[in-house]
Amino acid sequence: MSAIPGAWRRTAAGAGLLSPDGVVAPTIFAEMSASAVRTGAINLGQGFPDEDGPDEVLEAARDAISRGMNQYPPGRGNPDLLAAISEHQRRFYGLDVDPETAVIVTAGATEALTATLLALIDSPDDEVVVFEPYYDSYAAAVALAGARLRTVPLRRPDFQPDLEVLAASVTDRTRIILVNDPHNPTGVVFSPEVQAEVLRLAEKHDAVIVTDEVYEHLTFAGAHVPLATLPGAAERTLTISSAGKTFSATGWKIGWVHGPADLITAVLTVKQYLTFANGSPFQPAIAVGLRLPDAFFADATAALVHKHELLGTGLQAAGFEILPPQGGYFTVADASPLGGSDAADFCRALPERAGVVAIPLSAFVSPEHQGDYAGLVRFAACKRIEVLEEAVARLAAASF
Ligand code: PMP
Ligand code: GLN
Repeated sequence: MSAIPGAWRRTAAGAGLLSPDGVVAPTIFAEMSASAVRTGAINLGQGFPDEDGPDEVLEAARDAISRGMNQYPPGRGNPDLLAAISEHQRRFYGLDVDPETAVIVTAGATEALTATLLALIDSPDDEVVVFEPYYDSYAAAVALAGARLRTVPLRRPDFQPDLEVLAASVTDRTRIILVNDPHNPTGVVFSPEVQAEVLRLAEKHDAVIVTDEVYEHLTFAGAHVPLATLPGAAERTLTISSAGKTFSATGWKIGWVHGPADLITAVLTVKQYLTFANGSPFQPAIAVGLRLPDAFFADATAALVHKHELLGTGLQAAGFEILPPQGGYFTVADASPLGGSDAADFCRALPERAGVVAIPLSAFVSPEHQGDYAGLVRFAACKRIEVLEEAVARLAAASF
């Protein structure tokens, strides 16, 4: 198993990030995808779709290549994509985003997150509050930025945070509250009370809210509500998203961040020395995607709901207890009824035992909180129906 993200640290010499044993370890996603290739197991680990996105978007990228859009785009992003992001935020959320000053395109949400942290962290005493479990790049990026990570646990069954614990975690040292909603890996969509409390605490302690909304179009019980839409929130919120999930194009790495112009300028200052620019022909293609009719977005959600139902029913039939998601790519299941009370061990053995790859929730948890998530396993539902059917059939047939 690869290094646990929470254990990553900045070396005393500031030389870089090392895993605890001093070597660069692959991420859990890379390790598990390699295991799927090696064993021939079905990969329900790393969250990427196994089908292409909409034809119009693919065709627009081919067309952009043919039209010679193969050199550096502007550092802020292709103007048509900047305009399309602004239109999208108004159309779906009523948000007002100036395409010239308030938004930049990044190399996926990952670069947006890292550039934001590097831009906003001033001192080693700055703290970044995140909900735990958390996406693996968060702890690494906070360490790179030289800040301290403070975690607020999300506990089963509903994975909503305890508001008192949240309030106690945000202090005057908090520079950023980082909120991933819908949430990977738990699938939770945060309640209005949680969102309001995040804003209240950010205002009280003068913190910046950074959101990671890469699953914004994959919410199952009603429309996504960006934190930036709460009254007073936009002036202190950087909203991050990505085209990867919405358009099944995770390899294109087109993301964006929008917010107050002064904060965006700070993020752009860092971004221009990380990648300067990225994905020239993909940017106009994503502009086409963001302008697709409502039916595209609704159909994508409906298809994923169906896949989660199929996966959840199959996992239950195989003996798992499932914790149904409210959004995103993943279903979390408890493997304890199958003797998998150590999910890390369980997932390591699963490819050989059942021909399926999944990811233990422990990979998203700091070392000191591993016990709270011991039996929990994350399965990706963003695969073709026949792949999911085969995976759950294999799990049902395996002897645990
Ligand atoms: N945030 C979350 C919560 C994710 O699940 C992922 C991975 N899809 C990312 C960020 C990274 O997004 P991107 O591939 O656009 O960098
Ligand atoms: N976001 C994807 C997941 O959670 C992984 C992306 C990656 O491998 N960095 O599975």
